[in-house]
Amino acid sequence: MSKKSRAAKEYRKNKAYRFRIYPTKDQEEFLIKTFGCVRFVYNKMLAERNDAYEQFKDNKALLRKQKFPTPAKYKAAFEFLTEVDSLALANAQMNLQTAFSNFFSGKTKYPKFKTRRSRQSYTTNLLNGNIKLLDGSIKLPKMKPLRMKQHREIPSHHVIKSCTISRSATGKYHISILTEYEHTPMKKEIKQVVGLDFTMNGLFVESEKGKKANYPRFYRRAEEKLAKEQRILSKKAKGSSRWEKQRIKVARLHEKVANQRKDFLHKQSWRLANRYDCVVIEDLNMKGMSQALRFGKSVADNGWGMFTTYLGYKLENQGKRLITIEKWFPSSKTCSDCGHVKAALSLAERTYSCECGFVSDRDWNAAINIKNEGMLIIGLS
Ligand SMILES: [Zn+2]
Repeated sequence: MSKKSRAAKEYRKNKAYRFRIYPTKDQEEFLIKTFGCVRFVYNKMLAERNDAYEQFKDNKALLRKQKFPTPAKYKAAFEFLTEVDSLALANAQMNLQTAFSNFFSGKTKYPKFKTRRSRQSYTTNLLNGNIKLLDGSIKLPKMKPLRMKQHREIPSHHVIKSCTISRSATGKYHISILTEYEHTPMKKEIKQVVGLDFTMNGLFVESEKGKKANYPRFYRRAEEKLAKEQRILSKKAKGSSRWEKQRIKVARLHEKVANQRKDFLHKQSWRLANRYDCVVIEDLNMKGMSQALRFGKSVADNGWGMFTTYLGYKLENQGKRLITIEKWFPSSKTCSDCGHVKAALSLAERTYSCECGFVSDRDWNAAINIKNEGMLIIGLS
């Protein structure tokens, strides 16, 4: 196979679409019942697995060989299980199996029982046309079409694989439609390159013109309001009616802040992925960084990880590149003009001034260095 045809080889990719759904009273009842059945079956199977675990925990090989219970075996004793979508129950089994294999490989702790406070959701799969996208609604197994606000088209070459229906803490319903499609990656010639320096207060500073991506003011305000309401919640007696009212208020604000943040991160990543052929960033270890610098939650909440994920796939879809350079690279201490590296640079120094006479905003200087390092890696400088 020639290089060209190998590059053009098609491969499958997944993309999920998330829409708000508006169940009727009856439908809502059915959804809540399904969530309950999924939780019930999950907990039943887990209880059986717990027994097996107690019995064989000293013999891992034997433990792994223990057969998983299936949801079907509970249907005779608990007839209400037959009323809901059986695929939802089958997926509960899959989820439990995944939870156990993650536990066995050391990735997670031992699986826990689901409570009413757990995330309320269920997943169903496309099988013999049981799921249909209609105009303004979606048809799911065992249900009349559910009203759906479909704010974007699902391209016709995308095939539906599964749907996950969930209820938020504030009682809103959403559906995530997982699709699969054939993706042909292409390589785009790199002409426009940009370097980004992560910043604590905003999101990043660009190497080109020192443009800053700062969170909009309304987002900051919502965030402050959330912190304030959270403080009020912590002072109320847990479980009281005032506490419950405040909890819902906090959950609503949480949702609002999370949506605004996502929206902002999507917009910023779109802008960059459309304008540039290659984006260079530093590999930041967020957890280590927030611990080391005692910035607490703010670093992780700033959304850098989410942003780089969005940016990565938006670039890749266009045959463009995201280059991550190692974090030991002295992007802040290096003069982007003469290459001199300072022995020390405190966080308080917001301006970079070099012996050579070069003076620049600290983050902008770092962004230019990051860009230059990326250019070196791809052989453009
Ligand atoms: Zn210099």
